[in-house]
Amino acid sequence: MKSGPFRVRCPLCGAVAESWHHSTKTPKEATIGMASCECGTVRCDSMGPEGMGRIFCPETSEAPYLIQPYQVLETFKETAK
Ligand SMILES: [Zn+2]
Repeated sequence: MKSGPFRVRCPLCGAVAESWHHSTKTPKEATIGMASCECGTVRCDSMGPEGMGRIFCPETSEAPYLIQPYQVLETFKETAK
C-alpha cells in the first residue's frame, strides 16, 4: 500500500507539490490526484508504481545538461525494500 504522498520540490519557487493517491488515507487538506507547486512550473500526481508518481514539468530539451527543474523528495525510502 502507498503509505504517503508523492512529493516533488520546485527549485524555482521552493514549494512542494504533494499528491496523494486516492486509495491512501489522506489528511484533510491533502491534494488527491494532480498537485502543483506555487508557481505552477512543476506538477505531479501519484499514479505511478508503488511509492512513485508522474512528474510534469516544462520542456528541458533546450538545455538537457542543466539540472532537472524539480527534486523528488524521498518520502518512501524508509519503507522500500
Ligand atoms: Zn514552482
